[in-house]
Order: sequence, then C-alpha cells, then structure tokens
Amino acid sequence: MPTLFRKIKEVKNFIRGLRASAGNSFSVGFVPTMGYLHEGHMELIKKSKLQNDLTVVSIYVNPLQFGPEEDYERYPRDLERDLAMCGEAGVDVVFAPTDEEMYPETPKVKIEVEGISNVLEGVFRPGHFSGVALVVLKLFNIIQPDRAYFGEKDFQQLKLIQRLVKDLSYPVEIVPVPTVRDKDGLALSSRNTYLKEYERESALSIYRSFLIAQKLFRAGNTSANTLKEAIKEYISKHPHVRKIDYVEIVDEDFNIKEGEVSEGDRILVAVWIGNTRLIDNWRLSYEEV
Ligand code: AMP
Repeated sequence: MPTLFRKIKEVKNFIRGLRASAGNSFSVGFVPTMGYLHEGHMELIKKSKLQNDLTVVSIYVNPLQFGPEEDYERYPRDLERDLAMCGEAGVDVVFAPTDEEMYPETPKVKIEVEGISNVLEGVFRPGHFSGVALVVLKLFNIIQPDRAYFGEKDFQQLKLIQRLVKDLSYPVEIVPVPTVRDKDGLALSSRNTYLKEYERESALSIYRSFLIAQKLFRAGNTSANTLKEAIKEYISKHPHVRKIDYVEIVDEDFNIKEGEVSEGDRILVAVWIGNTRLIDNWRLSYEEV
C-alpha cells in the first residue's frame, strides 16, 4: 500500500528525507487528481512509474475550482477504493489533505493566464482556472516534483499549466498523457458515474462526432465552420442532449480558429447530457480512424 499523508508538513518532510538520502539522480513524479480514480488516472500513474524513482498521487477535490452552482458536493469520493487502486499500481505516496489543511484561510491570490483562463471552459466556469492554477502551483510547492503528469482529456487545463510553468520558469517538466477512452469511445471521467444508463448512448455522440469531423477533414473539408456545424448537428440530434456549451477548434497555441483548420488543431467540446456536463477534445489528423 502507498504511504498516506494528510498533512503538508509531513509529506514535504518525507519526500525531502528521501531526496537527501538518495542522491542527485533521484526523481519524483507527481500525478494530481481529484480522486475516484479510473483507467485514465492509471495511465498517468503508469507513465510516472516508468520515468521516476518515486510516484506521488494527490487526491483532493479542490473547492476553489467549482462554481457555486456546480457539482462540488456531489462529486464522487472514495478514498479507500482509490488507495487500493494506487496500491495495485505501485504508487509510493498518496497525499490526501483536508480543506482545512489546504486552505486554513480563503486564498486571496488569483492566477490568470491571458487567452487561456478566460475562454471556452473559462467562460462557462468563471473562476475555474484560477482555482486550478492555485491548487496545482500549491501542490507543486508541497511535493516539488521533477515531473508532473496531466491528461489531454482536460486539454485547456493542460495548456494552462504548461503556460504557467513556462512563464514562471517553474522547475518541473509537464508530461502530457493522451486521453484514455472506454471501448465504445467515451472518454473516461469520474463524472461519467453521473450518467444514467439510458444517457450513455447520447454521451457517445461526442466521440462519434469527432470521427465524423475527422473523416470530413481527411476528405478535404478544412473550414472550421463546416466541421463545427457537422459536430453540433450530429450531437444535437441525440436524446438527453440538454445543451451544447461550445464546439470550437484551437491551434497548438490555443488560438481559436475561424477560417481554415490544419493537422494538429484540436476540436474542443462541452456538452450537457441530462444533468451531466461532459468535456472532450480531438486532435485533427490525416490518419485513418
Ligand atoms: P481529475 O481527477 O478529473 O481532476 O483528473 C486528474 C488528471 O487525470 C488530470 O490531469 C486529467 O486530465 C487526467 N485524466 C482524467 N481523465 C482522463 C482520461 N480519460 N485520460 C487521460 N487522462 C485523464
């Protein structure tokens, strides 16, 4: 079983102690999560295990990144199950702090990354990325990892963290990990547990709409509008699709594409299936899918 820490000081001292006795080449990999682990998280953990001497997983549902009307209260939590999964995956350390430990006072720092924090997810979830940036930097300061692992599933979050680290010359390597999908194509997410069985087929329309867009792109349709409209049309004809928050395409620097798209651009989507808000994304390529 991994060693479980609840206190900042204790996990810090433990990792420091290991570093001091292990010598220069010792490396720490860090996987920040909100728990209720699934195979997507496991992929991040696997990669960290391969690349580092020590793998630390944090499990913390960060209240700062939830809006007042969002699912903070009902977000799934099961520390026992998470610990067992971490144990099986060979995680060395789990850091699962309480709210009092993380935020004895409400933080007054707001962190914004221009052009990332305030678009797409940032429009529909005001304050979300400030909360994400704060908790991730705070966790980096506590764990002081050499590498940190983030899923492409949350693409805008990955871009945010990459830019923060770059602009602040933060001494950590950000390692992106491709999205893990269920056999039927649904991107794994802790929030999938909210989906009713009869809603799942509609949730799959997101992945299937990406395949349609990819086919169109391969056939020479490079207009951003054509692809976005095809996606919206396909998703919205499914039952239980309550609302499409956005369908957009961005380039590698997270600029929103208006005209022609090219290989490497990403389609980003947020859709409400019943009471569940799902996000997903897809990298456009000429490859057959
Ligand atoms: P979460 O617990 O949802 O905050 O996710 C923790 C980390 O796991 C983030 O870096 C996510 O992007 C990543 N992650 C979540 N779902 C997946 C997935 N299906 N595939 C790859 N990474 C994922």
